[in-house]
Amino acid sequence: MDCKQSDLIIAQLQDEVSTLQAQVTELQDTLRAISAGEIDAVLLPGADGTEIFTRQGTEQAYRAMVEAMNEGAAILIDGEIVYCNSYLAQMLDTPLEQVIGQSLFRFVPPEKRTSIAAMLADGLKGSSRNEVIFCDAHGTPLPLQMSLNMLDSQDQQGLCMVVTDLSERVLKQLQLAASVYQSSSEAMVVTDESNTILSVNPAFTTITGYSAEEAIGQTPNMLSSGRHDKSFFLAMWQAIEATGHWAGEIWNRKKNGDIFAEWLNINVIQDKASSSHRHVALFSEITDKKKSEEVIWKHANFDTLTQLPNRRLFSDRLEQGIKRASRAKDSMALLLIDLDGFKEVNDTYGHLVGDELLIEAAKRIKSCVRETDTVARLGGDEFTVILTEITDASHIERVARVLVEVLSRPYQLSKERANVSASIGISVCPGDAIDSVTLFKNADQAMYKSKDDGKNCFSHFSKSLEEKSIKRTHLIRDLHDAVARQEFELYFQPIIDLKTGHLFKAEALLRWHHPERGMVSPMEFIPVAEETGLIIEIGDWVFREALDFSRRWRERAGYPVKISVNVSPVQLMLKERSGLWAEHLQQAGITGDGVIVEITEGVLLKDRPTVSKALLDFRDAGIEVAIDDFGTGYSSLAYLSRFDIDYLKIDQSFTSKLAPASTDLVMSNAIIVMAHALGMKVIAEGIETEEQRDLLIAAGCDYGQGYLFSRPLPAEQFEALMAEALGAIPVGTHLMDDELVSVLS
Ligand code: C2E
Ligand code: MG
Ligand code: MG
Repeated sequence: MDCKQSDLIIAQLQDEVSTLQAQVTELQDTLRAISAGEIDAVLLPGADGTEIFTRQGTEQAYRAMVEAMNEGAAILIDGEIVYCNSYLAQMLDTPLEQVIGQSLFRFVPPEKRTSIAAMLADGLKGSSRNEVIFCDAHGTPLPLQMSLNMLDSQDQQGLCMVVTDLSERVLKQLQLAASVYQSSSEAMVVTDESNTILSVNPAFTTITGYSAEEAIGQTPNMLSSGRHDKSFFLAMWQAIEATGHWAGEIWNRKKNGDIFAEWLNINVIQDKASSSHRHVALFSEITDKKKSEEVIWKHANFDTLTQLPNRRLFSDRLEQGIKRASRAKDSMALLLIDLDGFKEVNDTYGHLVGDELLIEAAKRIKSCVRETDTVARLGGDEFTVILTEITDASHIERVARVLVEVLSRPYQLSKERANVSASIGISVCPGDAIDSVTLFKNADQAMYKSKDDGKNCFSHFSKSLEEKSIKRTHLIRDLHDAVARQEFELYFQPIIDLKTGHLFKAEALLRWHHPERGMVSPMEFIPVAEETGLIIEIGDWVFREALDFSRRWRERAGYPVKISVNVSPVQLMLKERSGLWAEHLQQAGITGDGVIVEITEGVLLKDRPTVSKALLDFRDAGIEVAIDDFGTGYSSLAYLSRFDIDYLKIDQSFTSKLAPASTDLVMSNAIIVMAHALGMKVIAEGIETEEQRDLLIAAGCDYGQGYLFSRPLPAEQFEALMAEALGAIPVGTHLMDDELVSVLS
């Protein structure tokens, strides 16, 4: 039975009591009215039907009426019972004639006599109603409701007393309470002042497994789970003593050893009779609720893959760490760890292998720090470590060094062996920042510094890093408006046929005329444009602009001047952009043979359906594809042969080191031979010297590009160069691709 049910029953009982009291009052009023002559007759229910008593028969009528009452009634004069009805005599278990003439106090327990005398005195002032205790002839206590009304006859002052027996109702209530106790699904335990168990209900046995016999005489300690310390119970007992109540969650142990959670309510009940007190404890099991709460909490705060705290819990811990450091006046450090080369592992071997590596990396990071430090995974390949209670700054560096070393060890996974390294950024509180947002931003900047420094290392935050970051923010802001403000321009760098010295085509290279900074290098703003997604808009502009020049020059020269356009990986990854290239060609009114697209090998390593689709789109539109900066990535030529590639551009880092008998020359030779075998042409970038050119010609390289021939030029200068090269050739003369003009030889 729950609280609601018992409340309902108590309310019903109170209703019944009120109805009875109302009846008693009505009878008393009637009696008074008859004696005062206010009414002549009264209608009373007799055993054999309704009888009417008239004023003439008043005396008998009074008696009959009073005898008919289901309450005890008496007339008291100076505390003496001068009249009483048989019902009262029955209640007192004393013959009627022995009651009459007795002092009322004969039926009152000695300790209650004073209070009842006061009530009688009160009654003489008018009327009163109280709950009292009388006792019968054998001394058995009688709980009663006593109503007193003053009777004012000519010579004497008396009291009309009507008493209602409460013991039956009390009994009823007790029976009710007992049934609540027995049938409740909530466990109930009653203990005495020394906390010894006096009784338990069946629900207690159901929940804990202990029978009443096993529990009675013990203390509730028998259920102790050991999960709460002394201070928990101390606080509980302090609350009970101070307020008479305690409620809360507590972990206990069942007879079978299972730990369970319960919602416990303890109340102190005063026992009036013995003036001692009892503790009544009610509890219900909430283990399932707790478990599901725990699951929800774990989901919200932990990373399901590595079981490390997630970004949310990390933020909490970071805040706590900062507060703790400020209180303890020591330091804490935030280390941001980004795995270098993780994306390649993921893209090459798939997500399952990637996940396995992340789990192993998480273990390695944890092994490098103390239990009190926090290791969290923020997402992807980004981890973080919060080092607290730092008194010696060299500790941070030691941990960072070990982390770099440990994370760069080979990863032997179930099916593959993989290699990654870690770039770490460090920011210290309070030295570098005293709030979590700045601390994180600083660690992030330091992490990017590690990436810039060649990865596989750690860096501390510094003011200059901050300045760099501010510069970057400004760059992003300015890049947003650069297209609209027409601050971009295409430069063109000729690409030469090394066998004939003819100008074969040109690479379009983007230039940004910044209103304040002047010319900004694409090396600086292209990566930022890629990270922010601005490259989409910028790249579209470059492509359309390049097509426009290609069309114009074709009209002027009478032959297709191929323009190589650099396309960023970001532009190829978006699914919804497929088909856009053909659309651009259509709008520009030219065919795909006027343009070559330069992509980096990293794009192909992603091996995504969108990339393959883009490559097919290029082929369908007649656009050729070149692999830019070949040799700086990880792809093998055999891998590239899976794709429809027309040109390989050997990166300038190879070209610049070319010397007779150098390894770079051997490498370049090998690349050229293999590329040819796979049906690709080779373009060497960054040719600056005649020696480099000659070595490349000797190696069989097809085309060359570099300062030796020309720097990238603005369109008009490039056009002039073309015109000069066209020289005597009359406009409109049709030339084949390979017969392009020898401009620079
Ligand atoms: P890239 O595509 O490899 O372009 C060749 C870079 O080498 C150009 O740098 C060019 O000026 C430079 N270069 C050419 N010959 C020589 C030489 O003999 N010696 C040396 N030291 N350098 C030479 P630039 O113009 O600064 O462009 C840098 C990179 O920016 C490009 O490398 C390309 O990856 C990117 N980029 C340029 N324009 C665009 C564009 O429109 N879109 C995209 N996505 N990237 C672009
Ligand atoms: Mg390029
Ligand atoms: Mg290049």
